[in-house]
Amino acid sequence: MSQSRTAIYPGTFDPVTLGHVDIIRRASKLFDQLVVGVAVNIRKRPMFDVSERVSLLEQTLQEFPNVSVLPMDGLLVRSAREVGACAIVRGLRVVTDFDYEFQMGTMNRKLAPDIETVLLMADDVNTFLSSSMVKEVAIMGGDVTPFVPSVVMQPLREALKRH
Ligand code: ADP
Repeated sequence: MSQSRTAIYPGTFDPVTLGHVDIIRRASKLFDQLVVGVAVNIRKRPMFDVSERVSLLEQTLQEFPNVSVLPMDGLLVRSAREVGACAIVRGLRVVTDFDYEFQMGTMNRKLAPDIETVLLMADDVNTFLSSSMVKEVAIMGGDVTPFVPSVVMQPLREALKRH
């Protein structure tokens, strides 16, 4: 009997980059449904509030029919259970990501042994790319159009004026 498989891809997405989109595109082929979970994450003091981050993702991901976007707060495994996810997807760029992802994956397995963490290797062209790098370059006046979906550019310009 075939069973529909849902995964959750959590992150801050402040803002969404083409590195995130690559992981979403690939994960959307591995699972029947993919939920992109947008963490409120005040600890990271985001540049965009959660509704703006959700909206930018929704505009970017229109071409993926089996992908939805959900704001989330609190424990990740709780959100994963709420959407019926059997897996948590994360992207792995460099060795420095590994330490954190391994710790988080291990803790999540203790909390929810039935939910697997699936780490997808970043595409080599994206290994240098992060939301924080995009913001840093943009703040210093660099051109970030090659690194983010086009819908991000205008809100990013506006956010820069606020900061
Ligand atoms: P978090 O604050 O949870 O790290 P991010 O939005 O920075 O949220 O990242 C979400 C996930 O996407 C993480 O697993 C991160 O490693 C991954 N990721 C971020 N940038 C890239 C990229 N350029 N290529 C592949 N994966 C990435």
